[in-house]
Amino acid sequence: MNHDDQPSIITSTIDWDAPGRQVGHLNVPHSSELSAWGVLRVPVACIRGGEGPTFLVTAGNHGDEYEGPVAVQKLWRSLSPDQLSGRVILMPALNLPALLEGKRLSPIDGQNMNRVFPGDPRGSITRRIADYVTRELVARADIALDMHSGGKSLNFIPSAIVHELDDAERMTQTMAALEAFRAPVGLVIEELEPEGTLDTLVESRGKLFLSTELGGAGMLTPETVRIAERGLRNLLVHFGLVEGQIEGPATRLMAVPDTDHYVLAEDDGIFEPTLALGESVEAGQCVGRIHFPATPEREPTEHRAERGGVVFCLRPLGGTKRGDCLLVIARDRD
Ligand SMILES: [Zn+2]
Repeated sequence: MNHDDQPSIITSTIDWDAPGRQVGHLNVPHSSELSAWGVLRVPVACIRGGEGPTFLVTAGNHGDEYEGPVAVQKLWRSLSPDQLSGRVILMPALNLPALLEGKRLSPIDGQNMNRVFPGDPRGSITRRIADYVTRELVARADIALDMHSGGKSLNFIPSAIVHELDDAERMTQTMAALEAFRAPVGLVIEELEPEGTLDTLVESRGKLFLSTELGGAGMLTPETVRIAERGLRNLLVHFGLVEGQIEGPATRLMAVPDTDHYVLAEDDGIFEPTLALGESVEAGQCVGRIHFPATPEREPTEHRAERGGVVFCLRPLGGTKRGDCLLVIARDRD
């Protein structure tokens, strides 16, 4: 059921169109066992200086991905309106309940925030937050960046990510931003499941969108945090929001042009990768095996790459179920 015509019951402490530095939260009504009339307070900041574009930065869409939340919190504390030509809206904990528990999905309603956009003002709590973001924040944004990492079950070469767009001019602008982020890899990807993502929503509204996959395995490294912070700052410079230089080595442009570049598990068992993240792979090459702990006599199932390229994403967990994503191969972009 579509409730787009109904108002949101979420309120905020921020006047989104006022100048200056405002930090506060969304009040998301959440009546629970021990908090009958309680709210979830989702942190938001709006920093507005002189004339310029509006840049929406979200992180914590999945609660087990940490580079984005840390980088956005650092920016939150350091950015002042007198440095700024335009407006920056920061939401470092989009799915706050998930982030507080280190879970990919909301522990309240079990929903995946990045599958429920544009959201629903009368849906469960994750859908309500998505609806508020759609109607109040995406509506005001010219540019949006949603910072992801691999979470507990994937690990990536740190990357900034965009999609192939039909609009050639918008694609050129998007590629320029992708390169400006200066992640080790700038990737143009075909998603397995684009429906319901913030990416698809923002792109459908005709705004410029970037995402990231900055690491993963449910952890942070000094390098991935540096790449996140530098990339965020580089985009502020690229879009003319702050003065400065784009920093970092040139990005390697790569592509995952179709879903043949994904290798999915054929069986339940223990995943033994035979290649490391960043290694080259030939089409047909063995990339990993699934072993069967209850039946050691049985030969493991070999998994082969359909396409050649570089191991761009790798499952960091041994225990695996049939259908899990084991790895993704990227190739250099033509
Ligand atoms: Zn994610």
